Amino acid sequence: MDSTPVRSTDSVTVAVRARPLGKAEGEVAMTFTPTSIVISPGEKGEQRYHFDSVYDGSASQTQIYADLGAPILRKALEGFNGTIFAYGQTGSGKTFTMSGGESVGGGALGIVPQLGDELFFLVDQMLEQTPDTKFLLTVSYLEIYNEMCVDLLVPTAAASRALEIKEHPQLGVHVKGLTEVPVRARADLMKLAADGGARRVTGETQMNARSSRSHAIMTLHIRQQRLARKLEVSAKINLVDLAGSERAAKTGAEGQRLKEGIQINQESLGGNSLTVMIACISPAEAHLEESMTTLQYADRAK
Ligand code: ADP
Ligand code: MG
Repeated sequence: MDSTPVRSTDSVTVAVRARPLGKAEGEVAMTFTPTSIVISPGEKGEQRYHFDSVYDGSASQTQIYADLGAPILRKALEGFNGTIFAYGQTGSGKTFTMSGGESVGGGALGIVPQLGDELFFLVDQMLEQTPDTKFLLTVSYLEIYNEMCVDLLVPTAAASRALEIKEHPQLGVHVKGLTEVPVRARADLMKLAADGGARRVTGETQMNARSSRSHAIMTLHIRQQRLARKLEVSAKINLVDLAGSERAAKTGAEGQRLKEGIQINQESLGGNSLTVMIACISPAEAHLEESMTTLQYADRAK
């Protein structure tokens, strides 16, 4: 069978999303347009940044998915690998944006469940239109924590055995022994996302919140075979909820692991990928410094 044609279409989209202001928080003066943000932090003067898209606290989960998630899914079904990652300090809305729903104590669903929904809808549609198509959908879910790689799809005791990142001549950078679980319906995907997410926060306490210190990378692998045309299309979508950037910036080793983690998503896929970075910020006065650091980082990622 032919494999997916390799096209060189690496592209990066950088979006910024500000969460709504909390009840007891003082507000930073921020002005939003669909592609820019202006911060006026008093004596420091005015700072203006431009991005591919900018969302204030009123943006809906539906809009975020439609703008930033759906294009990655559509391209994946054409054979392009995609990565969507949320970056920003703890409490800025990364998990809300990527997962939403119960993972943040309730509320509208984030990118992962909406993408799962549309994926299975589109797969059903394609199976109706082209019955000779076969789909194989699998999920893996990796946590990078304390410089270790942990498999979030196996019971906690087994997962605590750290996995190794390997360089392989054919597979590229990959995680040895990471489980890949077949999913047949959206419910399967949601169950794995919920169980894996729960493992990620196991033992979390106020002072030592594990999920704020770990990167979580969910990978959806979509393989399609069109039997009549002897065509095989394969693509991966990486959905990444990063550790709080206040730590990533301060610890070199974590930063190195993160780079490797992102490489797992990209290097092995080679010259054929789309990346969406969602920089999450807080509009609160108390978080001004971290918000500016996040915007500067996002600005450099363009
Ligand atoms: P992070 O994962 O970056 O640490 P969370 O996603 O857990 O942050 O968000 C922190 C809190 O703010 C949660 O209670 C979450 O529900 C809320 N929140 C974040 N973003 C939004 C948003 N866009 N709209 C409403 N609530 C939000
Ligand atoms: Mg989080």
